Amino acid sequence: AGIPWETIEAVRQRLKEKPALHFIGGAFLPSESGETFPSLDPASNEVLGHAARGGAREVDRAARAAHEAFARWSRTKAKERKRYLLKVAELIEKHADELAVMECLDAGQVLRIVRAQVARAAENFAFYAEYAEHAMEDRTYPVDRDWLYYALRVPVGPVGIITPWNAPLMLSTWRIAPALAFGDTVVLKPAEWSPFTASKLAEIFQEADLPPGVFNLVQGFGEEAGAALVAHPLVPLITLTGETETGKVVMQNAARHLKRLSLELGGKSPALVFADADLERALDAVVFQIYSFNGERCTASSRLLVEEGIFEDFVARVAERARAIRVGHPLDPETEVGPLIHPEHLERVLGYIRSGLEEGARLLVGGKRATRSFRGEDLSRGNYLEPTLFVGENHMKIAQEEIFGPVLLAIPFKDEEDALRKANDTRYGLAAYVFTRDLERAHRLALELEAGMVYLNSHNVRHLPTPFGGVKESGDRREGGFYALEFYTDLKGVALPL
Ligand code: NAD
Repeated sequence: AGIPWETIEAVRQRLKEKPALHFIGGAFLPSESGETFPSLDPASNEVLGHAARGGAREVDRAARAAHEAFARWSRTKAKERKRYLLKVAELIEKHADELAVMECLDAGQVLRIVRAQVARAAENFAFYAEYAEHAMEDRTYPVDRDWLYYALRVPVGPVGIITPWNAPLMLSTWRIAPALAFGDTVVLKPAEWSPFTASKLAEIFQEADLPPGVFNLVQGFGEEAGAALVAHPLVPLITLTGETETGKVVMQNAARHLKRLSLELGGKSPALVFADADLERALDAVVFQIYSFNGERCTASSRLLVEEGIFEDFVARVAERARAIRVGHPLDPETEVGPLIHPEHLERVLGYIRSGLEEGARLLVGGKRATRSFRGEDLSRGNYLEPTLFVGENHMKIAQEEIFGPVLLAIPFKDEEDALRKANDTRYGLAAYVFTRDLERAHRLALELEAGMVYLNSHNVRHLPTPFGGVKESGDRREGGFYALEFYTDLKGVALPL
C-alpha cells in the first residue's frame, strides 16, 4: 500500500522549512558558522531541504558531550540500557511512515525497500536490547590452585559512526544499537547526500528520554566533519561504512591515534550459477541482488558467472526480467527501481557504461538514462537509469570496479575451477553467491571463495546473530550478534592470588 498524500506533503514541508541540525549533548544546534548545505531530491534534483554544515568545532563539542556522558552511561545497569533500546525500537515503529517517506525522498530508494529498512532499524534496537544483559563470552581458565583468573568485557568510550547514503537509517542503527547496548556512547556523522533521517532519529532519542550526550549527531561533509571525528582524541573507536578508497584514507588518519577501526567497504560480489542449479531460484536471486535497491547495495552480486552450457539461455532470461523492471518514482508502491542518489553518481555510473562499451562488452539491456516511468511519467529531471545488462570478461574495468548502480555483467565459465578463479580474481571480498544442486560443491566453494559472507542457493539474507563483513579490500571486521562485542568492548584479564 502507498503512503497517504498528506503524510508525504507534511514531510516535504518539514524538510523545506526545518534544516537538519546537529544534536549535541541533548540539544539541536545549528553550526557555529550558521552554514548549511542543500540536499537534493534524486527524483527531480530540486532542493529538498538543508542540513547544518558541521566541522571541527561541532565535532569537538559532540565528542566532549559523548565523553562526559560515557562516565555515566557505561555504569548504567544493563537492564536500564535495554529499556531505552526497546523504547527507541518502539518509537521507530511509531514514526515508520514519516521515516520511510523521508528516506525515499532523500535517498531515492523505493518504498517497498525502505519500509523493510525502517522495520530493520527498529529490529536492530530490539535485537541488541536483548544483548545488553549478555555482554559476555564463555571463557574459562584452567584451575590454578592459588590463583583465580577471569576476564571482563567492558565498554570502551565514545564511538564515531560514519555512514554512507545508500541505506542511511538501517546502516546507522546497525552500529548505534550495539554501541549503546554494550555501554558506549555515540557520535554519528551521516552521509552528506542523505542527511535527514539521522536528525529524525535524534528526535526519537530525545522522545525516548535518552540521557543527554549518549547519542550525538554532527551533520556535514566527509572531509570536514568526518575527518575531524576520525582525528578527535576523545573518540577511540571509528566505524566506517563507505567506499574502499575512503576506508584507506580513514585508516591512515586513524593511525595517528592508534584508533580501533571497523571498516565495512565496497564490493564486487560474484554469483556463480552452475548448470545443475534450480535455475528459477537462481534467476530470482540474481535479478533481485543487482536491480533492487537501485543497484546501490554493498552486497549486490554485480558479476554474474554462468556455466558455459547454459550461459546464453540463462542470460537471455535475466535480460527478459531486466527489461520488465518497473522504473519509477520511489514513493510509488509499484516501483522496483528508483533514481540514483545524485547527478554526480549517475554520471559516474554512465561513465562505467561507456567504459564497458569501449572495452568491447556486449550491451544486452539498458545502458542509458530512463526518461519514462512504467506509468508513462516523465523522468528526465531525475537521476534515473535503465536497468543494464552486459556480457563481458572478468578483466574488464566494469568487472573489476564497484559501479554501485543497476548494472550487471555476465561472464561465462568452463568448470568449477574456472568459476572459482574468476570469482576470486578481484580486490574485493564482501559476499559471494553459489547456485548448484551439488551440495559437496556448494560447501567446497563456501570454503574457497574469498568473501566474508557466502550464500548458497539464496539471495542475501540478513540473520542478525551471524557475522557480517568483508575480506580483502571490502573490510576488516565482523559485526552482528556477539561478534560486535569484539569491536565495541574491551576484554580485560583479571588475576587474584587466593
Ligand atoms: P563514501 O566513502 O563516499 O562515504 C561514506 C561516509 O564517509 C560518508 O559519511 C562520508 O561523508 C564519509 N567520508 C568521506 N571521506 C571521509 C574522510 N576523509 N574522513 C572521514 N569520513 C569521510 O561512500 P558512499 O558513496 O556514501 O557509499 C557507498 C559506498 O559504501 C559503496 O562503496 C558501498 O559498497 C559501501 N557500503 C558498504 C557497506 C558494507 O557493509 N560493506 C554497506 C553499505 C555501503
